[in-house]
Amino acid sequence: MGRYDKPIIIVHGGAGAWRTKGSEIIKEAARILKDSVIEGFSALQTGSAIEAVTIAVKILEDSGIFNAGIGSALNMLGEVEMDAGIMDGKTLRAAGVGAVKRVRNPIVLARKVLELTDHVLLVGDGAEIFAHSLNLPVREGVPPRIVQKYHELLRSIHSGKNPTKWRNLHRIMKMLNLYDTVGAIAIDSSGNVAASASTGGIWFKMPGRIGDSSIVGAGFYADNKAGAASASGIGEIIMLMMVCKRVIDFIYQGLSVVEATKRVVENITKVKGIDNVGVIALDIYGNASVAFNTEGMARAVMAKNLKEPRIAFFNEAIP
Ligand code: ASP
Repeated sequence: MGRYDKPIIIVHGGAGAWRTKGSEIIKEAARILKDSVIEGFSALQTGSAIEAVTIAVKILEDSGIFNAGIGSALNMLGEVEMDAGIMDGKTLRAAGVGAVKRVRNPIVLARKVLELTDHVLLVGDGAEIFAHSLNLPVREGVPPRIVQKYHELLRSIHSGKNPTKWRNLHRIMKMLNLYDTVGAIAIDSSGNVAASASTGGIWFKMPGRIGDSSIVGAGFYADNKAGAASASGIGEIIMLMMVCKRVIDFIYQGLSVVEATKRVVENITKVKGIDNVGVIALDIYGNASVAFNTEGMARAVMAKNLKEPRIAFFNEAIP
């Protein structure tokens, strides 16, 4: 992905089959990824890495294009249940929220859990009550595009094309290749790193299922002594393999960020096959990397030495 000068922000819009979404969606996704890194980068001019990753992910959640916030996937009952998480590499404090239904911006709620509580994970009603107590904005309705997709998936499951056994859910998701969760990583001018992730989870998940985006070490991780990482793909695999913590541990052990991300994705491919994971990572020297075993991973970067954001979806050398 390259080496950049601090401050740096990198965002992702998920690993998956971006080509099948069509050129219009790709264009729109590129525009939003660009907005997200521009806003995140402007936060880095005056603020910290943790503020930048919050702002960048909030824009992606509000866009309705990605599987997070407004555009969240629906569970088997057709309900929204969102997860998000954030980590501050300076304090090594992290927080996640899981299965929240009514909060407009789960990433903002996760940040509040990090800053205002002693907890690491807050889920369901407890997380909603906390959000309500802080007067955080409430999400309104589900976009028609999402409702339509739910009914299409339901029809394809009922037609027998995709067998309904819930143990087959990962196979169905791999066929559909729908992972467009979002995340952001950043390093500020003082060398502090932060990581975040936010998702509606996998389509047709069981109610109450929580994925990697709220689990520290799985969907996100940041440590001022090594770097930051954020992942997308099948949450159960990412949690079992502790993808982001592993990337950071490999960097600790002396691997380059490129080798670290590559090795984690290759290990998963060996054990679980392809089409299930993607990860972006940044070390504290400004070296950035992306690795995925899917068709693509939507991503954008903005840094001090760039005139404008760089955006990529597939195997391009940049960003
Ligand atoms: N990782 C997310 C989850 O399993 C899905 C995605 O990446 O789109 O909850």
